[in-house]
Amino acid sequence: MAKHKSDGGLGFKILHKFNLAMLGKQGWHIINRPQSLVARVLKARYFSTQSFFEAPLGSNPSFLWRSIWETLGLIRAGAYWRIGNGQSVSVWGQPWLRELPESLVSTTPPLNCARVVVSDLIINHRWNESLIAQMFNKRDRSCILNIPLSLSSCSDTWCWKFESKGHYSVKSAYRFLVDGFQHREGSEIWKRFWKAKVPPKVLNFCWRALVNVVPCLSSLQSKRVPVDPSCPLCHVAPENVLHILIQCPFARSCWLSSPLGWPAPSASSLNEWNNVVWKGQGQTASGVFFMALNFLQQWKAARVVSSVSTIVDPARPIWSPPPHGWIKANIDASLSLQRGSVGFGCVIRKDDGSFVVARAGSFYSQMDAKCAEAIAFREALS
Ligand SMILES: [Zn+2]
Repeated sequence: MAKHKSDGGLGFKILHKFNLAMLGKQGWHIINRPQSLVARVLKARYFSTQSFFEAPLGSNPSFLWRSIWETLGLIRAGAYWRIGNGQSVSVWGQPWLRELPESLVSTTPPLNCARVVVSDLIINHRWNESLIAQMFNKRDRSCILNIPLSLSSCSDTWCWKFESKGHYSVKSAYRFLVDGFQHREGSEIWKRFWKAKVPPKVLNFCWRALVNVVPCLSSLQSKRVPVDPSCPLCHVAPENVLHILIQCPFARSCWLSSPLGWPAPSASSLNEWNNVVWKGQGQTASGVFFMALNFLQQWKAARVVSSVSTIVDPARPIWSPPPHGWIKANIDASLSLQRGSVGFGCVIRKDDGSFVVARAGSFYSQMDAKCAEAIAFREALS
């Protein structure tokens, strides 16, 4: 019942994990607001010489601290530094890479570099690539160069890696506690099942039948209740879920009197029978056609993303001027996954189309398309 609905459960929360996810918010506040009264009191009492992540439970801890301390593993797994000026983040021992699942640097620190902070790796708002190449292994080097740097020297902030906006949420924390770092796809059959437009009690009964928890004589006998398990309607087979709903002659006559007919069961349980029926429908000629069509569309979409900079659509308008007295900047970015580089370009024109200025460049990074577009905007405005 505690499984997600798309995995065949009822979506009930696992209370212990849900409680941890809610408590995690308090842990998140301690690292985000170290100047708050509660953070200062807890630090003075329990981790005065260490960071929150290294805090011990301590002797005779309060109920509050014991509860927050339980969330250390969760916060440690989900929090990382978003680099601003890099002055408050130590290169070693603090999570600041954006990679999943490990945000710590994996390179062994050189003997005399234990106190290096991230700002030491930055020159003029750009990564010092030659220094990074000397200091780090290949994985760390690639992760570091993928981090976009701010031009405004803002301070470093904590970021929650399971939310795109970086803010802690109970929902994402609970999802991590249940599924870990794996992305849960869910079953297509279950998703369609829960969307069925039928009364809730019918849906509930169907769910109970599919997960085999409908009370019937066979299940009573399996629990050592002294009953005759044979079907009281036909007396020819044990009464189980598959028999009651599909195999029993009475059930068959019900099916046959409906427009659906009676799909011959070749399965040992109702869930298996359900899969046979649904998957059987997927193998029709139209099903194969739509699968091929879907594949073709996905392939076309992938082609567009991987070669954004080379496709020119002749049907698109070439350029539309801005309002009178304005200038217009056109900006674009491209990604080369093979070379691991990002390219950007921008051109600024007046309202009569006359050229003002243009800029283009590229750098080595493996960021995603959103980040590449954002970097292109930043470069255009700088
Ligand atoms: Zn029967």
